[in-house]
Amino acid sequence: MIKVEKLSKTVPSGDGELRILKGIDLEIKAGQSAAIVGPSGSGKSTLLGLLAGLDSPSEGDVLLQGQSLASMSEDQRAALRARSVGFVFQSFQLLPSLTALENVMLPLELAGMEAPRQRASTLLEELELGHRQHHYPRLLSGGEQQRVAIARAFASEPAILFADEPTGNLDAKTGAHITELLFSLNRDKGTTLVLVTHEQGLADHCERVFEMYDGELSELPRQRPC
Ligand code: ADP
Ligand code: MG
Repeated sequence: MIKVEKLSKTVPSGDGELRILKGIDLEIKAGQSAAIVGPSGSGKSTLLGLLAGLDSPSEGDVLLQGQSLASMSEDQRAALRARSVGFVFQSFQLLPSLTALENVMLPLELAGMEAPRQRASTLLEELELGHRQHHYPRLLSGGEQQRVAIARAFASEPAILFADEPTGNLDAKTGAHITELLFSLNRDKGTTLVLVTHEQGLADHCERVFEMYDGELSELPRQRPC
């Protein structure tokens, strides 16, 4: 379960302060799927980073699985992330000095899971990257890097998966495959999904849809149940 109250983020800007997030209230139950849509620059990535404990809010707190991120040390937050959170960055953020396979193995090793190499390799093959496992990120196309980033976030079957425009760089067929993988995790493992997306098809798959507009979040009514 993810819970935030009055979450704000303000950053210094040239001639004063920029309020990126303006008092967000949000509660997502364990096992739910939620999409966050909204125009570019409205604060979606900033919110996702705060929810995952990758960044600190100016005001408010985030509770992940009942635990207050504000009350934890950076090490405790890192341990919680390694245990329970997967994150697909909009800009991938693969480690350049590690191969695709090593990038995917890393969180498995951090989480102390068994057979990390075998697991990472199987997942990359499933994403049709078997032949790219031993390549470094700079040798991969944008779409390939995105699939490695997704494999890395999925690999440890985290309780909560955050993904920032996970199908943004993919062709329709690969995008549909990623969508299927995301929702099979949600269905089969009860993974909570929080996705930022511009794609209506992906948002339509989610139980709940939120719209960010100029740092404010509102929930959209659903046309149909899914
Ligand atoms: P979105 O993901 O919806 O496109 P972002 O969360 O990336 O939006 O950014 C929201 C706004 O905040 C943008 O105008 C962006 O330039 C600004 N912004 C984000 N992070 C910072 C930062 N660390 N310092 C200054 N401005 C930032
Ligand atoms: Mg963004």
